[in-house]
Amino acid sequence: MSSASSGVSREIHDVVIVGGGAAGIAAAASLLRRRPSLDVAIVEPQSKHYYQPGWTMVGGGVFNAASTEREEADFIPGGARWIKEAVAGFAPESDEVILSNGERVAYRALIAAPGIKLDWAAVEGLPETLGKNGVTSNYRFDLAPYTWRLVQEFRGGRALFTQPPLPIKCAGAPQKALYLSCDHWLRNGVLANAKVEFHNAGGLLFGVKEYVPALMEYIKKYGVDLNFGSRLVKIDGAAKTAWFEVTKGDVKEIVARGFDMIHICPPQCAPDVVRSSALADAAGWIDVDQTTLQHKRFPNVFGLGDAASTPNAKTAAAARKQAPIAAENVLCFLAGNAAHASYDGYGSCPLTVERGKIVFAEFGYGGKLLPTFPKWLIDGTKPSRLAWFLKERILPPIYWKAMLKGREWLARPTISAKS
Ligand SMILES: Cc1cc2nc3c(=O)[nH]c(=O)nc-3n(C[C@H](O)[C@H](O)[C@H](O)COP(=O)(O)OP(=O)(O)OC[C@H]3O[C@@H](n4cnc5c(N)ncnc54)[C@H](O)[C@@H]3O)c2cc1C
Repeated sequence: MSSASSGVSREIHDVVIVGGGAAGIAAAASLLRRRPSLDVAIVEPQSKHYYQPGWTMVGGGVFNAASTEREEADFIPGGARWIKEAVAGFAPESDEVILSNGERVAYRALIAAPGIKLDWAAVEGLPETLGKNGVTSNYRFDLAPYTWRLVQEFRGGRALFTQPPLPIKCAGAPQKALYLSCDHWLRNGVLANAKVEFHNAGGLLFGVKEYVPALMEYIKKYGVDLNFGSRLVKIDGAAKTAWFEVTKGDVKEIVARGFDMIHICPPQCAPDVVRSSALADAAGWIDVDQTTLQHKRFPNVFGLGDAASTPNAKTAAAARKQAPIAAENVLCFLAGNAAHASYDGYGSCPLTVERGKIVFAEFGYGGKLLPTFPKWLIDGTKPSRLAWFLKERILPPIYWKAMLKGREWLARPTISAKS
């Protein structure tokens, strides 16, 4: 719909969704399944849609990169309008978003899901050397195949793997790259000639203690040198040297490490467009209620996915659960009712500890274990072949054919009894 009451032409929609990634498309599909007549617009600048959870498998030589990429157009739900622009600003006081071309789009309700910012430039020298000189990252579609190339070509020497401060999307992904690489080197007799170091800016291998013993077994098996409080701050690819700020108590020092290959998980933060807006909390994230996903100050705004302030594991699995909840609560809002669907913080992280086995971490707020399957089928705290099968064969079609199409397999929302 379009209006020109103030002399400035602008579109108006029942619901505007910012970001057509995992969370945005799933929310649009869930909304339109519930209310096909709803006037929904999705603002998304990219032509391609990526299954990012597949990039770990690309870096491990299990998937090819092309299998993780689709046309965005094929996932814009029928009945939704696609505005192929970026949002340059939020104006929640006037119920509008401002596009990068200067136009304004108005809404009755907004769903904000623009994802997380990968801040490559926060590491000095990284943008210049990324993708060459043995410097790689599974956090980019075009670089995950380079990870696998480097792993195959590695004949020994020093391999570094890094993890920045949390929150990051898929906090297990830096370790997944580490384990799959070591597994390949072990199978090919290379690991004995390798010095492998994991540099983690935090102080824990994994935030939920139940999964740590199984992961530590693999750290020992692969002979990985674990370095906590060690944050990558600078890199010179040509000189094959990385610098880490190492924190021990109150003391910080800069330590240089030579490398033959390095896998980098970049520093991450809220997108600038959110951080600089009235939607942001003090840390820059979309300031929503962690149960209803409704904004704390603007009740017609909902936030989900990686950009939201909810303290869950930032994963596509979380977005799968959040999207139907956001859809339900947006419809409640439009009908003048209180939000009635609630999110328990579910997120999941399938830790690929070796080719063919996964430690399947599934948990919600406060680190509460929330397993999908009974323990006799998949005990998430132990390496599991069935969990690998799930990751390799089942989760990708669940993403493309269910989650993004509004078929809420494993994601039916919990509705409060009062409503
Ligand atoms: C290497 C790696 C491994 C992972 N492994 C797993 C895993 O095993 N399991 C799991 O569940 N999750 C995993 N994830 C995390 C998962 O991919 C993300 O948590 C998920 O994609 C978040 O969904 P989102 O919609 O919030 O963000 P995204 O899917 O990133 O989508 C954000 C969208 O917003 C758009 N956008 C950005 N800025 C703007 C703007 N200004 N205006 C309009 N649109 C904008 C972007 O173009 C993008 O399409 C992994 C991620 C990576 C990188």
